[in-house]
This record gives sequence, C-alpha cells and structure tokens, in this order.
Amino acid sequence: MKFILTVTSILFFLSCTTKNPSLQAQDTNHSKYEKIIKSDDEWKQELNALEYKVLRKAGTERAFTGDLWDHKEDGVYTCRGCALPLFDSKTKFKSGTGWPSYYEPIQADNIELDIDYVIGYARKEVHCARCDGHLGHVFDDGPQPTGLRYCINSVSLDFVERERVEKP
Ligand SMILES: [Zn+2]
Repeated sequence: MKFILTVTSILFFLSCTTKNPSLQAQDTNHSKYEKIIKSDDEWKQELNALEYKVLRKAGTERAFTGDLWDHKEDGVYTCRGCALPLFDSKTKFKSGTGWPSYYEPIQADNIELDIDYVIGYARKEVHCARCDGHLGHVFDDGPQPTGLRYCINSVSLDFVERERVEKP
C-alpha cells in the first residue's frame, strides 16, 4: 500500500512538473473524500477510551457488548469519527456473531479496505474512507445478494433514524 501511495505521489509530482493532464486526472479520482486528519490528542478529546481504541488503534469491542449488534430500527449507520454514512439498516442481518453485520456498505466509496495480519492470518480490514477510522473486517461468508459479511464494531458507528438522514 505504502509503495502504491509512493508511486502515486511520484506520478502526481511528475504530473505537476510536466503538466501532463491525464496523470492529474488520475490522481483526483483516487479518493472521493478529502481525508480528515487529526492528531492522537485531538481524537482522544473527541472519543471515549473504547471508541479511541477501536477507531484509532484498530481494536475490537467484545462480542455482544456493543449497543448495535441487536439493533433493528430503520435508518442509517454513520461513522462515529466523522459522521460519514456507512451502512443502511436494510442491509443489516442477524449473523449470530455479537457484532453488527451488513452485507454491503451504503456506498462503495465510503469505505476502504486493507489487509491486516493481527491474529496471524490475512483479514480484510474495513475503515472509513474519510477519517480512516477502523470499523471492523469483511468476510466472504455473508448472505446474498453479495455473499459478504461486514463485521463492524458498534462503537465505530452511530445510528441515525431514516427521517433524520440529510438528503444530499
Ligand atoms: Zn469516518
């Protein structure tokens, strides 16, 4: 990942110096959102200890302890770090894992994936595309129509009732 970012930076730098429009266009398509970047101290002021540990340090809440794993209301789940809409309640399903589970994000652009080896084998880590807050992991044993299971920490999310969701 770092290698790719470095290459992208170099290409972008070259595009600035050579005024190559195709390379510039490529870079603007890299991410839909301008990243929210804050220091550890700023995050600690905004988040409680568990939220900080999960969102900023890729921790995991204990199963069946969050407030959203068995939550069944109609609405949208947003990022607790930056309020970006992440998952729709229509895609939430009962997984039996003790964590809120969804079969797809509200928009593909709103999340990003990485690979982590925290527990000894490769897992697809899921984080917010805007603030990079750690959300959970995605596995390929979910229900149709996608066959995916986004296993997300409750503390990484806030719930917004559908009538309160702001229209774009
Ligand atoms: Zn976020």
